[in-house]
Amino acid sequence: MPVDNCVEFGWQDLETRGFLYHSHLTTGMHVVVNAAMSADGKLSSRRREQIAISGEADFERVDRIRADSDAVVVGVGTVLADDPHLTVKDETLREKRRENGQPANPARVVVDSSGRTPTDAAILDDAATTYVCLSEAASVERRAALVDRAELVTAGEERVDLLRAFATLQEQGLEQVMVEGGGELIFSLFDAGLVDELRVFIGSKIIGGRDAPTLADGEGFVTEFPSLDLESVDRLDDGVVLTWCVADR
Ligand code: NAP
Repeated sequence: MPVDNCVEFGWQDLETRGFLYHSHLTTGMHVVVNAAMSADGKLSSRRREQIAISGEADFERVDRIRADSDAVVVGVGTVLADDPHLTVKDETLREKRRENGQPANPARVVVDSSGRTPTDAAILDDAATTYVCLSEAASVERRAALVDRAELVTAGEERVDLLRAFATLQEQGLEQVMVEGGGELIFSLFDAGLVDELRVFIGSKIIGGRDAPTLADGEGFVTEFPSLDLESVDRLDDGVVLTWCVADR
């Protein structure tokens, strides 16, 4: 249910403005998924605690992608597990953004059907604008708790409808978008046909565990697997960065 002072956009508003929703809806938006995984494809351990998979050079690489983005997106699972801040760490990069007339940090986005993001989450501080993408299932209480700290976007009935949510974000001028995880969200974005590019740091650890999050979790594909074109392979820290473009985009 809408709450005053939030940025609420309806699907119909966007439809009447001539947006086309298809397997991928947007013309201008570019979505880069970036994650670090262990040599066996895990994003963290079965305890879902943040694990240092990469090193300093990779943190700098991630910081540069953030600095080149209009928004950094995570699922609420990542917010609850890691409490990330998602800001640009290098002052020189922040300064460059300011010189280009951009805010020092990109906007932050949480995909969070029922508004589970804690009000004291680091992502809700005043370092950048934060959008919380909710579904209709989010209660008035949770909306009221979040509305002073974030712009609220509602899309989808039970779960966040990513096509609609991302269309709304694009309407807000967020076109270069970086997704930092986790595995549930990344799967859904591939499923919705929203990913343009995948960059993965593969580190030199084995984490293991059938219940540990992987790069793409969710239901998994059984047919029509998204396929990727390999763009580059770069050695970094103790691992390798693979850059893939999503085929047919
Ligand atoms: P996640 O992908 O961050 O968030 C998933 C949650 O988002 C869902 O459970 C769901 O919760 C919400 N959501 C709402 N709409 C959705 C939709 N359409 N599709 C998918 N999710 C939707 O959580 P996760 O997979 O559990 O990942 C968290 C783990 O990944 C943590 O262990 C973290 O440390 C790790 N991680 C690692 C990296 C890395 O680069 N190594 C990066 C990020 C995270 P609701 O139903 O409540 O909405």
